[in-house]
Amino acid sequence: MIICRWEKDGQVSREVWEKAGANGLLGVNTPAEMGGIGGDVLSTAITWEEQLYVNCSGPGFGLHSDIVMPYITHYGSQEQVEKFIPRMIAGTCIGAIAMSEPGAGSDLQGIRTNAKKDGDDYILNGSKVFITNGWMSDVVLTVAITNPQAKSAAHGISLFLVEDGMKGFVKGRKLEKLGFKAQDTAELFFEDVRLPKSALLGEENNGFYYLMKELPQERLIIAAMAIASCEWMFEETRNYVKQRKAFGKTLSNLQTIQHKLAELKTEICIARTFIDDCLRIHNERGLDSSSASMAKYWCSDLQNSVATRCLQMFGGWGYMWEYPIAKAFVDARVQPIYGGSNEIMKELIARQIISDK
Ligand SMILES: Cc1cc2nc3c(=O)[nH]c(=O)nc-3n(C[C@H](O)[C@H](O)[C@H](O)COP(=O)(O)OP(=O)(O)OC[C@H]3O[C@@H](n4cnc5c(N)ncnc54)[C@H](O)[C@@H]3O)c2cc1C
Repeated sequence: MIICRWEKDGQVSREVWEKAGANGLLGVNTPAEMGGIGGDVLSTAITWEEQLYVNCSGPGFGLHSDIVMPYITHYGSQEQVEKFIPRMIAGTCIGAIAMSEPGAGSDLQGIRTNAKKDGDDYILNGSKVFITNGWMSDVVLTVAITNPQAKSAAHGISLFLVEDGMKGFVKGRKLEKLGFKAQDTAELFFEDVRLPKSALLGEENNGFYYLMKELPQERLIIAAMAIASCEWMFEETRNYVKQRKAFGKTLSNLQTIQHKLAELKTEICIARTFIDDCLRIHNERGLDSSSASMAKYWCSDLQNSVATRCLQMFGGWGYMWEYPIAKAFVDARVQPIYGGSNEIMKELIARQIISDK
């Protein structure tokens, strides 16, 4: 089975990226005049959801299409758009975003990777960790300090498009993870990488501002995927309990099981309503950062709670890798951690609540 091969390899194939590109599944929300598909947010959300409806966490398509590509289309020069977007749409250029470092995850302002001016060029030094699509990446949107003397770290951060093959750009190991076995999460090292001025994305020292503008969409993607996964786990479990026999009847005949299903269905439906609303508002460009944080925190926590309860109804089989619910269970665990941990989401929500503005 192809999924098993990807899990064993710790990465998916290049072929699947190119097939996704050929079938119009990458960059659905990228404007057509920039070489994209030109669909709206709701159309691209279908690609996130459909991937979860087959319990497939390997290909980092959502990150590539709706986290990395928007930085290029929103802040990139025409030259950068023309260079990267058509190939990213085709799946021949895989994108990654490198913010986190061994010593700085939640606290992005604590990063140490830096880019020093050298004539018109920059010299990039530092390292990144936990980078999704990192091993297969062809272009990495890299966050680096460009002004260490800035009044706050946030005012001295820039974004760079670092390309595979650049001298001094080294990919470390693919990290062994609890879940997401088929996703190539990697360490990246930058050792005196000479970057031309054309690798700078947008304005120098504006990087933190760009990140703050784009991170709500990342959080919404995680939330939407979480709910799609909940829906998939629910259906998988419903099918199982309707055929699994115990005490002369199917499990679905037991009232305690029925009540569990009723609780799950109710919780998932309520979250689905909120997510659909967030998606609709985001499609109209009105989603605020606080709502995106609420969606990310609530839906990813729900996904873990649903995973625990659904797996329980599979009994011992739920603990076996041959049953896909086991994969959904371990895949769920990272959702409250990355994209800004859920503790950080609560910080952001609370900040807005107590603000006097
Ligand atoms: C599978 C995977 C894929 C990832 N993909 C990417 C990627 O593509 N690009 C990228 O840049 N990063 C990526 N990450 C990194 C991810 O975003 C970070 O792991 C995350 O932001 C948390 O940072 P940290 O691991 O350094 O934890 P820390 O920041 O050390 O936090 C540790 C714990 O302390 C809590 N904590 C920290 N600060 C506070 C606070 N102020 N208040 C309350 N609690 C707090 C956190 O919530 C967490 O529970 C990925 C991570 C994983 C596991």
